[in-house]
Amino acid sequence: MDLSTEASARTANGMIKPGTFRVVAGPCTVESYEQFYEGAKAVKESGFEYIRGGAFKPRTSPYSFQGLGKEGLEIMSEVSSEFGLKVVTEVMDPYDIELVMEHAEMIQIGARNMQNFSLLKRIGSAIAGTGHGAILKRGLAASVDEWLLAAEYITSEGGENVVLCERGIRTFETSTRFTLDLSAVLVAKRLTDLPVIVDPSHAAGRRDLVVPLSKASVAAEADGLLVESHHEPENALCDAEQALSVGELMGLKEALSPFAGAMGREVV
Ligand code: PEP
Ligand code: MN
Repeated sequence: MDLSTEASARTANGMIKPGTFRVVAGPCTVESYEQFYEGAKAVKESGFEYIRGGAFKPRTSPYSFQGLGKEGLEIMSEVSSEFGLKVVTEVMDPYDIELVMEHAEMIQIGARNMQNFSLLKRIGSAIAGTGHGAILKRGLAASVDEWLLAAEYITSEGGENVVLCERGIRTFETSTRFTLDLSAVLVAKRLTDLPVIVDPSHAAGRRDLVVPLSKASVAAEADGLLVESHHEPENALCDAEQALSVGELMGLKEALSPFAGAMGREVV
């Protein structure tokens, strides 16, 4: 399938707009056409405009599912076009940046690559002037200063539409997968004009905390969420314990709206 015309139309200008609270939802990883189709249907029916999904996965173990790669990207662009959704997906290797840009509006830089400076610079120059944007996850043990300086590796190369994402840091606490650092969201918002979103899924590592942490993120002045969902969470190939079910995703907008309203924002 020739996606070149769609690719040139992919623009993330204004992923974060004033007065809005942006929700990006979707599976940890693209597993198959059917799985991503069901995921996209749920995101669309939940009233959201951006879908996430990984084609290149930074797995702790080399023996875990590594993602479908190029095939995963093609599934994402085909399905997202069908539903009119915009795509957020991770790139790990500088050689894949152009390919990913053909299929996604927003390029995610994972926590483990936050200080991969050559990757950051290449992404900054690749997205400059294209309308694409980048979401920079905070490293597992990165200070706010290190996170903001990492973002400058992208912006100083001309990269625009850069969004910071707090996804939990490593602490002594083991009852959650990581510790969601909402103070860092507030601090970052005071130090930079870049939008800051929150990933409560990887922070908590357990689905029962995802919606309450999402509400807390709204109060902590976040500009949006990156949240994992799956049409069959128990069968997800990756991060099954933290994926919201379709029912939970469907209720997310309504659950967040009173909090967002109190902060003068509309959930989109
Ligand atoms: C992800 O978003 O699926 C992911 C791997 O995130 P992180 O880099 O924050 O661990
Ligand atoms: Mn994940």
